[in-house]
Amino acid sequence: MAKRQRCIALLGGALSTTIMLTGCLGNPPSKQGASTATAPTTTAPAVAANADLEVKTISLGYIPILEAAPLVIGVEKGFFAKHGLEVNLSKQASWGAARDNLVLGAGGGGIDGGQWQLPMPQMISEGAITNGKKVPMVILAMLMSQGNGIAAANSVRDGNLSVDLKTSSPGFFDTFSQKQGRKFKAAYTFPKANQEIWIRYWLAAGGVNPDQAVELLKVPAPETLQGMKNGTMEAFTTGDPWPTRIVKDNIGYLAATTAQIWKVHPEEYLAVRSEWVDKHPKAAVALLKGLIEAQIWLDKPENKDEAATILSSRKWYNVPLPVLQASLKGQYKIGANGTPQTNPAMGPLYWNSDRGVISYPYKSLTLWFLIESMRWKFFPGTVDTVEQARAINDKVTRVDLWRQAAKEVGVPEKDIPTGSSRGKETFFDGVVYDPENPKAYLDSLKIKK
Ligand code: CA
Repeated sequence: MAKRQRCIALLGGALSTTIMLTGCLGNPPSKQGASTATAPTTTAPAVAANADLEVKTISLGYIPILEAAPLVIGVEKGFFAKHGLEVNLSKQASWGAARDNLVLGAGGGGIDGGQWQLPMPQMISEGAITNGKKVPMVILAMLMSQGNGIAAANSVRDGNLSVDLKTSSPGFFDTFSQKQGRKFKAAYTFPKANQEIWIRYWLAAGGVNPDQAVELLKVPAPETLQGMKNGTMEAFTTGDPWPTRIVKDNIGYLAATTAQIWKVHPEEYLAVRSEWVDKHPKAAVALLKGLIEAQIWLDKPENKDEAATILSSRKWYNVPLPVLQASLKGQYKIGANGTPQTNPAMGPLYWNSDRGVISYPYKSLTLWFLIESMRWKFFPGTVDTVEQARAINDKVTRVDLWRQAAKEVGVPEKDIPTGSSRGKETFFDGVVYDPENPKAYLDSLKIKK
């Protein structure tokens, strides 16, 4: 049995010991994957001893994509340590493994929290993706906006897929089915979360019903390059380095960036078990202070090359440096013709944007993933109504700890949001999501389940 499958089998048993997990978390197993068993090796400065926290350490999981950068930078540049918290980051083999490790908790050899696609934290809290086991979680901050893309294979380059399919590729998907005798395959890394939601939004906005005209499937990110080469799928959506690698390796092209679909959209979030936050409120604020400082650091143009060097190293993502240098700076080649685009405002954003601060966990944005779940009937019995969605989201998304951390770390008052809504949101196709009236948004969508 391949090591990966063996690990999944072990995790499936939910009785894995810390030692077993040590080998499973890393992909390949790494020192950061040591979880609670071994002291992490890091070049970060010593943890501040004078901080009066309830606990000195936290175990967080991450997936090696740009969304995790604030966590890695927080460790490497000593931002967490400065506030008295030692953050043990362990690479997760997949989103499913991250979920299983969260259910185990650090005390059981797993993790206390980490990086998540939404609505994973809300649905783990409700037991909807954990075989009914409810593990309450708290969404503390947004890690990153934008920085994701939809890549298409060279085999469909003549389809000229772009963000606006109605203009670029009318009738393409039906013609594909007729010619190939099968449907166009579009893949994501984990079902019923961000990436599936982006691909569904994109297709539906282009007049393509994702439940009829294409086949949607799950493909783990590390299998992306080979999968696209051998025809496992024609399109794939995830965070960089993957879309940029597909372009650089000439396996396919970037049909659309998620920034084109929805400028300054919510992407992945930091969320932690509620139990940990309730027991350690001061440590939770310290975690957020380190995160905020890491996000401010990451957004500065002069730090992009250093960030790329840290992230691309063997210790962390183990990917070619130029891939991360380009994607961190918002340098893309877009479309079947590979039109160069260099616009940091359309690349990954960690702190600032023309919609205000990125990191703050606006409830209006975390709610959208549940509204989109209603659109596609992802979780029948759990999220069927706007009222249910709001009730779940209000329990899971917390803005008070973020505000306290921002204040304590010296974020100017004008940059600290006071409400929990960012207001109305507009997508590339003109559709408006008004968080005050999600039903009107749902009613306005022509394609849904
Ligand atoms: Ca993502």
